[in-house]
Parts: sequence; C-alpha cells; structure tokens
Amino acid sequence: MYNRILEIIPEERLRWQEPLSAHTTFKVGGPADLMVFPQSVEEIQQLVRTCRKDSIPYMVIGLGSNLLVRDKGFRGVIIKIGHALKGLYISEDEIMAEAGIRLSELSKKAAAHCLSGLEFAEGIPGSVGGAVVMNAGAYDGEMSQVLTAVSAIDRSGDLHTFTPEEMAFGYRSSIFQKGDWIVVSALMKLSPGKREDIEAKMREYARLRREKQPLYMPSAGSIFKRPPGVYVGPLLEKMGLKGFKIGDAQVSTKHAGFIVNCGQATAQNIIDLIQHIQHRALEEYNIVLEPEVRIIGEE
Ligand SMILES: Cc1cc2nc3c(=O)[nH]c(=O)nc-3n(C[C@H](O)[C@H](O)[C@H](O)COP(=O)(O)OP(=O)(O)OC[C@H]3O[C@@H](n4cnc5c(N)ncnc54)[C@H](O)[C@@H]3O)c2cc1C
Repeated sequence: MYNRILEIIPEERLRWQEPLSAHTTFKVGGPADLMVFPQSVEEIQQLVRTCRKDSIPYMVIGLGSNLLVRDKGFRGVIIKIGHALKGLYISEDEIMAEAGIRLSELSKKAAAHCLSGLEFAEGIPGSVGGAVVMNAGAYDGEMSQVLTAVSAIDRSGDLHTFTPEEMAFGYRSSIFQKGDWIVVSALMKLSPGKREDIEAKMREYARLRREKQPLYMPSAGSIFKRPPGVYVGPLLEKMGLKGFKIGDAQVSTKHAGFIVNCGQATAQNIIDLIQHIQHRALEEYNIVLEPEVRIIGEE
C-alpha cells in the first residue's frame, strides 16, 4: 500500500506506527500508521498525488499544539510539516515565512527587524501553517490582520495562492479548515516600529500568559472557542468545574478554559471531559460550547 511513498521519501524521514502522543502538546494520541517528514513543497505535492492515487488517507500536522488525537491513532499517513519548511525572508516591511517555522521564532525575528504586528504570536506554541489554518490570535491580534497572501496545496497536489478575501477568516477559522488544503507559506505585511517597544509588548504578553495559564502542564491551550459575549474560564468556574477531573484529564485549577493532562490522561478521558462540560453548559446556561481543539483519529 505504501510502496510508492517509499520511492519518494527516503527511509530516514519515515516512521512506522509513530505514537502521536510524541507530536502533540497534550501528550496523548495513538499511533499513525506512517509519519512522513517532507523537506520541500515538491515532496508534499508528490506525496499528496501518491496518497490520492493509492486511496491512502492523509493529514497534515504542524507542532500539534491544537490537536487531540484519539487513542486508536490515525489510519493512514500523517505529513508532519513542523520539522522542515523553515525558510524566512524579510524585505522592508514584509515577511515571507514557510509553514514549518515556529510562531515564537517568527515574532522574535520580526521584532529584531523593528517590525510590529506579530507581538501577539510570541507565546502561541504553534507553527506558521497551523496558525494560518486556525487564524490563531491573542491579545487583540490575530493572523488575519497581517496576512496578505498564503500558498497552499490542494488535494490534486497543485499549488494555489490565496488573497485575504479568499481565505475567509473568522474567529479561529479559515477556508483552510475545509477541503484538505496544505499551507506551505505565508506572506505578511507589518508596520515599522521601535524594537524596544515591540519587545516590551511581547514581554508583557509572556508575563500575562505565565500568570494566567498552566504552561507547566500538557494542554492544547483554550479547549473551547469563545461563544459571543461569554468567557469560558469564568463560566466553568461558576459551574463549579474548576479542578474537575475525569481520569487524569482535568479542568485546570489555574485557568478553567484549559483542560490539562495530569500525567496519564487518555484522549478518551479528555473527550469525556469535553462532552461533560458541553452537556452542563447547555443544560444549565443554554450555551453551546464548540471545541477549539481539532479532534482527529480513528473512533
Ligand atoms: C499553552 C498553549 C497556549 C495556546 N495559546 C493560544 C493562543 O493564545 N491563541 C491561539 O489562537 N491558539 C493558542 N494555542 C493553540 C495553538 O497553539 C494554535 O492553534 C496554533 O496555531 C496551532 O498550530 P500547530 O502548528 O501546533 O497546529 P497543529 O496543532 O499541528 O494543527 C492544528 C490544525 O491545523 C492543521 N494544520 C497544521 N499545519 C497545517 C498546514 N501547514 N497546512 C494545513 N493544515 C495544517 C492540522 O491539520 C489541524 O487541523 C495554544 C496552545 C497551547 C498548548
């Protein structure tokens, strides 16, 4: 089944039965049949075409910081982008970043070049690709405010360039969440600023995160999207759910908007906890909580 993939990617960049718990910040998730570490856009294009021809399911991941992988793992090929595609090019007030770069590295480079607009991204532990797909954001900033073009590969392996209008950004959503797109690079326009001011803002955001978020425990950040006019953390506190546990999955005692893995949580523990919270929010407050974390893998 995977013979043709072996012809494209050398053995040292393939892993069989790779535990996805090692590739997610939640530290849960069963094995992927095959994990592939492509090194170029052309390799990804070939991979997609081959998977399609041979009817092999595939999925791309970045740094796994917004992913909950089920315990049975993923049947098919996981294309891991967060290990390569790390090109970064800066010209005046524009940055072109490939999808595998860490957001924290991108925002630090922008600051070093006296470019403002990515301060919000410094503490988000994802890749540029994952951030585009999720329209990641914090502290009044989000990716859609700086992106001017994105290149992505479609299901046929063809490369397309998207304008901001075509990317249809919404709160933690984009067109790339539909239709198996693989984001390979992003062009951003920033504004000139003073390096000290930019770095001071980044330090302040980092301080706020350390103060408010359980950064010392495995999690995927905010577990639910924010419904209009509702702060999820305070809502869960009001419901008495802060610290509530199923197995080793716990509503964080530091920030009730996070679910943390206390050590031995399974994906099922986390899913059960999500469903428990959703059920109570609906029953008691008529509020629909939609997971922000992307749940994948065999049911
Ligand atoms: C402690 C902590 C704090 C966080 N704080 C924030 C925050 O303040 N704001 C915020 O928005 N998020 C936050 N997050 C969530 C997460 O970091 C972001 O959503 C991030 O953008 C995900 O990037 P990633 O590379 O880890 O994506 P992954 O988790 O690997 O993937 C997320 C989704 O994007 C898809 N994807 C990833 N890369 C690509 C690609 N190149 N092409 C196509 N699809 C792709 C995956 O298939 C998946 O559906 C936080 C997470 C943690 C653990």
